[in-house]
Amino acid sequence: MRRETADARKQRTRKIVAALHKTYPDAHCELDHADPLQLLVATILSAQCTDKRVNLVTTELFKKYRSAADYANAPPAELEQAVKPTGFFRNKAKNIQACCRKLVARHNGQVPRTMAELTRLDGVGRKTANVILGNAFGINAGIVVDTHVARLSLRLGLTQQKDPEKIEQDLMALVPQEQWTLFGHWLIWHGRRRCEARKPDCEHCEINKLCPQMGVLKQLNK
Ligand code: SF4
Repeated sequence: MRRETADARKQRTRKIVAALHKTYPDAHCELDHADPLQLLVATILSAQCTDKRVNLVTTELFKKYRSAADYANAPPAELEQAVKPTGFFRNKAKNIQACCRKLVARHNGQVPRTMAELTRLDGVGRKTANVILGNAFGINAGIVVDTHVARLSLRLGLTQQKDPEKIEQDLMALVPQEQWTLFGHWLIWHGRRRCEARKPDCEHCEINKLCPQMGVLKQLNK
């Protein structure tokens, strides 16, 4: 790909945004939740686990634990068993419990609405905080960078960075703020349905004319 100016990249990103919006008009967070606390717990559980499996686990979990205090006061072994199928269950149970204890102690049992307060909770980094702010509160504070968003951002030539926070900064400079939450969903949906890690379907891809396919040929020829 010829060297692209910052302005040209911005224009191309606008076109990608429009095309993905058209392709996935219903894109949304695929973790089942009915309130911010449920989304917070589901997002902690989603590390290294599929949304589908998390949803299976939370169907029962959310019936039993209804408030931050319920998680805070649960016997640790009981909480571990309840989240076991999501993997890394000891660590996840520990984080959920510690996080919910802070919610009770500092926030009256409620999930806070700022990046600074959220990232002070156990098990909550920028990615999780962005999921909560964008989907539970409708606040576009940043862009979720998970494995799909990182991979697609590279392939689309929107970043050359590998570190999620640096990728996020590059994307925030290119995508209009009101689209930040949706942009994360669109890339995640596209990554799951079209631009998979091992087998990107470039031939049928809805944005192939806008994509330099950075690193794809090299990867497929391996
Ligand atoms: S053209 Fe290929 S690499 Fe680019 S977004 Fe589409 S599937 Fe992914």
